[in-house]
Amino acid sequence: MFLTVHGSAAILISEHTNSISLAFILGFISHFILDFLPHENPGLSKWVKKSNEIKKYFFLALADFSLLTIVTAILFFNTTFTNPHVIIAGIFGAILPDVLWGIHKATNWKFLKPYHDFHTWIHSIWEPNLEPYQMAVIQAGLLTLFIILIIITKNGFV
Ligand SMILES: [Zn+2]
Repeated sequence: MFLTVHGSAAILISEHTNSISLAFILGFISHFILDFLPHENPGLSKWVKKSNEIKKYFFLALADFSLLTIVTAILFFNTTFTNPHVIIAGIFGAILPDVLWGIHKATNWKFLKPYHDFHTWIHSIWEPNLEPYQMAVIQAGLLTLFIILIIITKNGFV
């Protein structure tokens, strides 16, 4: 699932705590709950695996992280988060699982292999036969839902 979706979920969750460590842990856990939902993009995966896999993953992650940064910045400038540092900790917790996955992918470090397998396993638990556009709708729908809930709960954009 895209980092932008994970990060937005973390912002929503982190709004409800004042604890940096709790926000980080909840963000981390939320990552796996979201990754459990069907969200694969077969076309994108095929393109990535065709050649220069690591470079393409890095480029996608960079583009995705940039979008998350823009979404976060817009929310920060238009809402009144009481503890911005808690929100940032939540976002870091929520994107760390994919950062670890990427580090393993790029380095093949053995100690990260069990984690890598766990992360892949989460994706494979529930694989209903959905069309790619349906899985894109799930991601876009979740992102929209999280942003609306963030705005509603913070009374932003009014
Ligand atoms: Zn993930």
